[in-house]
Amino acid sequence: MIEFDDVTKRYPDGTVAVGNLSMTIPTGAITVLVGPSGCGKTTSLRMINRMIDPTSGTIRIDGQDVTSQDPALLRRSIGYVIQHAGLFPHRTVVDNVATVPVLNGLPRKQARAQAYELLERVGLTAGMADRYPVQLSGGQQQRVGVARALAADPPVMLMDEPFSAVDPVVREGLQKEFLRLQGELGKTIVMVTHDIDEAIKLGDHVAVFAEGGRLAQLSTPEDLLSQP
Ligand code: ADP
Ligand code: ADP
Repeated sequence: MIEFDDVTKRYPDGTVAVGNLSMTIPTGAITVLVGPSGCGKTTSLRMINRMIDPTSGTIRIDGQDVTSQDPALLRRSIGYVIQHAGLFPHRTVVDNVATVPVLNGLPRKQARAQAYELLERVGLTAGMADRYPVQLSGGQQQRVGVARALAADPPVMLMDEPFSAVDPVVREGLQKEFLRLQGELGKTIVMVTHDIDEAIKLGDHVAVFAEGGRLAQLSTPEDLLSQP
């Protein structure tokens, strides 16, 4: 469980990106943060893995204040997937996936074997593993990004607009596969999107953000849809 307890983030220029945010993100489910551009979704996401620290308030994961934890250690248990997969351009696909486990001390041979397996799991054929990212389509690169995030088998995954950089047909397929994969893995997922339809389709819980980084509502998609 991830708890935001009266969290505020004010940037040095005075912008209040997130204001007095309190919410509970349950374990083993997909929680989608949705709302218009600039309402503090990405800032909220990045405070979970300490890419950004709050100005005030507390974020706890399973009861532990994240700011009491070493960021590098924290990020071993938190996967991070962004819009343009953010792959290392000079490394092959398989090495993109294997790099972090190797840095964490897994023998290279084992890390590569695991990487091939993960790539298969996200629907990439063996032939793609030895290519460079630039040789893949946008949708394929997103899959590599997911495989790389999964390589550390993190209990928590943060995803920032993971499907918005691909065309609608590819997106539909990725979303479906993502739900299938999550059905198997049962990760705690926090996903950011500006697309309310996507939030309703993918979220077990939907957190609707409003201007000034305030939480307007946290509910199930069913409850959102049944509102007048
Ligand atoms: P969202 O993800 O909902 O689009 P963000 O969290 O990216 O929102 O941004 C929230 C607000 O904080 C916006 O007004 C944005 O311009 C501002 N902001 C984001 N990053 C910075 C920064 N590094 N310095 C100053 N203002 C920022
Ligand atoms: P494309 O048209 O880009 O080749 P498909 O819709 O046919 O894509 O892809 C489905 C596959 O992509 C699945 O096997 C799924 O596991 C994987 N996948 C890709 N991106 C993601 C993601 N962001 N999250 C989860 N799975 C993903």
